[in-house]
Amino acid sequence: MKICIVGGVAGGASAATRLRRLDEKAEIILFEKGEHISYANCGLPYYLGGTIRHRDSLIVTKPELLCKRFRVDVRIRNEVLSINRQEKKIVVRDLTSGTDYEETYDKLILSPGASPKIPPLPGMDSDGVFTLRNVTDTYRIDDYLLENKPAAAVVVGGGFIGVEMAENLVDRGLSVTLVEYADQVIASLDPEMANILHRHLSEHGVNLMLGTGITGISHGSHGLRAGLTSGEEVPAGLILLCMGVAPDSRLAKDAGLDLGLNGSIAVNEYYETSDPDIYAVGDAISVTHLVGRTETLVPLAGPANKQGRAAAENALKGRKLKRSPVQGSSVLKVFDLTAASTGLNEKQLRQMDLPYKKTYVHPQSHASYYPGASPISMKMLFGDDGHILGAQAVGAEGVEKRIDVLAAVIRLGGTVYDLEQLELCYAPPYSSAKDPVNMLGYTASNILNGDMPVFYAEEVSSLDAQTATLLDVSTTDEILMGTIPGFQNIPLDTLRENLNRLDPGKPVYVTCRVGLRGYLATRMLLLNGFRAFNLSGGYRTYSLTG
Ligand code: FAD
Repeated sequence: MKICIVGGVAGGASAATRLRRLDEKAEIILFEKGEHISYANCGLPYYLGGTIRHRDSLIVTKPELLCKRFRVDVRIRNEVLSINRQEKKIVVRDLTSGTDYEETYDKLILSPGASPKIPPLPGMDSDGVFTLRNVTDTYRIDDYLLENKPAAAVVVGGGFIGVEMAENLVDRGLSVTLVEYADQVIASLDPEMANILHRHLSEHGVNLMLGTGITGISHGSHGLRAGLTSGEEVPAGLILLCMGVAPDSRLAKDAGLDLGLNGSIAVNEYYETSDPDIYAVGDAISVTHLVGRTETLVPLAGPANKQGRAAAENALKGRKLKRSPVQGSSVLKVFDLTAASTGLNEKQLRQMDLPYKKTYVHPQSHASYYPGASPISMKMLFGDDGHILGAQAVGAEGVEKRIDVLAAVIRLGGTVYDLEQLELCYAPPYSSAKDPVNMLGYTASNILNGDMPVFYAEEVSSLDAQTATLLDVSTTDEILMGTIPGFQNIPLDTLRENLNRLDPGKPVYVTCRVGLRGYLATRMLLLNGFRAFNLSGGYRTYSLTG
């Protein structure tokens, strides 16, 4: 069997090594048009910021290793130009010699990735304007920084790469403006969760311009100027375009293969394209969302690697491994914070018209009496039957571990009731006897079984003090640090003796700092005959909205 692979990084390199582990005799040829295979795309921003110091560290596997250990015929700087499906041949250009040649295949696996989106606006090809996709781009940006020593940069786009690059350019000593067309960064988070990042980015000196797009790039007397939809022009020595990626399906399209969502390469449930001898994986294909069951694009390394492995088994052995749905689990470092999410967020659920409930908690990352604990802000979305639809978390410590647990529970079809029962490892430096994930389970099941009727921060503005009692049960000292306008203060520990001050005919809307004492007050009120509701996530969530 002779298998050719197009693309030598996440999906392609995974496919190549899996093929060899399954078959000692197969002829495996890996074509990569760039200089490098199997490089650390995800590490590129950290090289530019100086955390990863050596260029060599970015290359995970050198071609020689793949040749020696896996007997893969690796051809770097070889671009596959076209596919002749009738004759099962590809035309390849050796970019070093400039010559074209043909190669036959029995099976072909495409993992060409995605290309950065560049809008058709003036000045996008100016000197000093970059996109970041591969090691060559990284070296180019690094060399430019070393030679030109720009004092300021504009990063356009507040997705994962844009935010990571904003941080890393700050680390590199530049003053950074981050321009994002939407009113929030990191679209996988809901706005109130992203607000934590907005504040943190600003605290670290990033000039964050939300709701602002780029209109073009011009040359001023002191370098580049980024024209913005606000009418402003921001001067910069370097402009980085991080405006998302589009599936690289040119080769497939020219070969007459079917295309799918947003020009991605269409594949069936076994990663076969419309030609059964050609498979496709990675950023170039669309995936089915595990929770929403809709087709979507999830350009992440984890899915690409797993798909490459599965497609290799199907192509070589005819194993019919099924295309795995994707849930978009992702994590991001933003200076001293970590943000992570899995599944669908509230914006997506609303767009898809899927019914949901939600809960917010802000527990400590580990036992509060052990030094160094810090709060994690968490949000979980779930259905009426308790199935978990998605979760998001932002904090300084222990964030990704909680989202990983939730990702696993979602993958296994678990419910909020399962979260209550999860037995997670505990010692004071790491967690609490009731882990934050358990807390999400408790609050969600309390909502579902009616033990804790809730209201949400976005409903606060419609509450009327004439028809409802608005109550903050924080301590008097805490109130001095902030409370919701219009809420009267009766600290929780004095509430029982003050119940006679509350009108039993009015519903009581309760808040506290993070929702825990509000829950206790709500229970007390309910058990004393009041209609009561607790603000999910308390004042902390309220302060993140709007
Ligand atoms: P790629 O890994 O992009 O590989 C495709 C390769 O195919 C390219 O090297 C390309 O040169 C080659 N190619 C294309 N056409 C041809 C042709 N005709 N002939 C020969 N070769 C060809 N994901 C995460 O999950 N976590 C992260 O933290 C993360 N950080 C990232 C940071 C950056 C800066 C970037 C750019 C991406 C990041 N990603 C991250 C995304 C992740 O890297 C991709 O999802 C993943 O690499 C996709 O794998 P792939 O095999 O589909 O494509």
